[in-house]
Amino acid sequence: MTSKTNQPKTLQQAILYFSDPDNCLEYIKIRRWPNGVICPTCGRTDVSFLAKQRKWQCKSAHTQRQFSVKVGTIFEDSPLGLDKWLVAVWMITNCKNGVSSYEIHRAIHVTQKTAWFMLQRVRLAMQTGSFAKKMGGEGGHIEADETFIGGKARNMHIATKKRRITGTGGKDKAAVMGILERGGEVRAMVVPDRRRQTLHEAVKNHVEAGSALYTDQLLSYNGLEGDYAHQVINHAIKYVDGSIHTNGLENFWSLLKRSIAGTYVSVEPFHLFGYLDEQTFRFNNRKEMNDGDRFSKVVSQVKDKRVTYKELTGKTDKEQGTPFFN
Ligand SMILES: [Zn+2]
Repeated sequence: MTSKTNQPKTLQQAILYFSDPDNCLEYIKIRRWPNGVICPTCGRTDVSFLAKQRKWQCKSAHTQRQFSVKVGTIFEDSPLGLDKWLVAVWMITNCKNGVSSYEIHRAIHVTQKTAWFMLQRVRLAMQTGSFAKKMGGEGGHIEADETFIGGKARNMHIATKKRRITGTGGKDKAAVMGILERGGEVRAMVVPDRRRQTLHEAVKNHVEAGSALYTDQLLSYNGLEGDYAHQVINHAIKYVDGSIHTNGLENFWSLLKRSIAGTYVSVEPFHLFGYLDEQTFRFNNRKEMNDGDRFSKVVSQVKDKRVTYKELTGKTDKEQGTPFFN
């Protein structure tokens, strides 16, 4: 039914292609079950397809015998059609600086609150699969740096918002640590502070011993020389000294901050994780991939990432009142 050649390469093609529910089904099916459809409840593989309902039925007599392609994915429990979902995924994945819930709301005709919820769910699918493998090693060049992002921008006057968001630090901001392998990936994580123990732990969790490590002169990095070839660039004097610099991360921070200033109104610490997942995905998949490849990758990561509104916001739908729009 679906061949590689007629798969969408542009947003316009995606809108057209996914207006057919069979295309939606097939596209997701082969990505979430690359080795054939499996019953999400019991794991049986000899399930039968019910073409009319676009569902499968398990041969075992347990509850939820019938299941759709949405079960166990970020799309589960959503009454929205996959046509809308997949177009939203396309937009979020491929717009260079990200899209706001306002843009999704206008493009696919859902309420802004729904669009916001979709955005958070798609961000989950953009999470890096696993941080299990450390970066670097012998011959690896690693940069580490931190920055401050976000703050409680909600309910703030627009001028104040701008000032706060572009500033560097303050008690309403979250510290974010970045670790980048030159020629490889970047990882970004929210950290409680910039103390020595915190930063050392992050470096040791993510970077193989023996790597070359480049940081600025922040004293918290002192003491890593035992495990790494640690070299420090003193930003008070200069930004680059041969290979000693943190320019890869500076580049990532500037993209991150530009997208916040340009598109996103508020990034509360609570939502910063998802936001970082999105930006990190975009940065790590910016080269040697076209829009269709990036989209395909996100769709292949939609499973086992269910989240409820309460988990996202820390509040129930009713308690929510004014949703966080960004
Ligand atoms: Zn089953």
